[in-house]
Amino acid sequence: GYRSRAAFKLLEMDDKHHLLKPGGVVVDLGAAPGGWSQVAVARVKADVGEGEASGGKDGKEGPRGRVIAADLNEIEPVPGAAFMQLDVTDAEAGETIRAALGSARVDVVLSDMAASSTGHRQTDHLRVIALAEAALDIAEDVLKPGGAYLAKVLQGGASGDLLNRLRKNFAKVAHVKPKASRQDSSEVYVLAKGYRGEAPTKAF
Ligand code: SAM
Repeated sequence: GYRSRAAFKLLEMDDKHHLLKPGGVVVDLGAAPGGWSQVAVARVKADVGEGEASGGKDGKEGPRGRVIAADLNEIEPVPGAAFMQLDVTDAEAGETIRAALGSARVDVVLSDMAASSTGHRQTDHLRVIALAEAALDIAEDVLKPGGAYLAKVLQGGASGDLLNRLRKNFAKVAHVKPKASRQDSSEVYVLAKGYRGEAPTKAF
């Protein structure tokens, strides 16, 4: 079973938008308690045992993916996912995640991050946008050209600044609302596909 109802939102969005492919590398931000990570591990086949991946006897040629999950809070380990406890808004968060990836670059950055509600709509919106922006900072550090970014935003969608940044850096940007999130009426996701690649001035 899945650890969160949120897992069904990712399943639904992925069924429609095909983000998680066998062999894919995924970063899951705001991963606790681990439902999205469970979905990502299964779909990219990050839990295939050594030698079981189709193709290579050592598993290297097979479609074995990777999932790196991060959250402020600890989670019970998700088999197949590497977990890091960190604050995504910390300046070093991108560096920490990149170090864990080694030379690998990422196909999809997922963010289901949300701060606990203040009950004040505008404050909540600003906070979720700040988290989506922090996720985009990280995405720009780790994504492969052609990669994708999927992040939770609230009703009203992404802010103008976030949208402009996404439109500049990705080929396609759209809002998506999974049916599984109809109970959270204020919840919408922004999906950006076709990452154009790092800015030439940005040193690795
Ligand atoms: N997708 C998850 C799942 O399926 O299990 C549910 C994620 S839950 C809605 C949002 C998570 O975002 C919380 O676990 C929270 O700790 C995390 N979060 C909020 N702010 C964060 C930050 N600054 N850095 C890392 N994680 C953060």
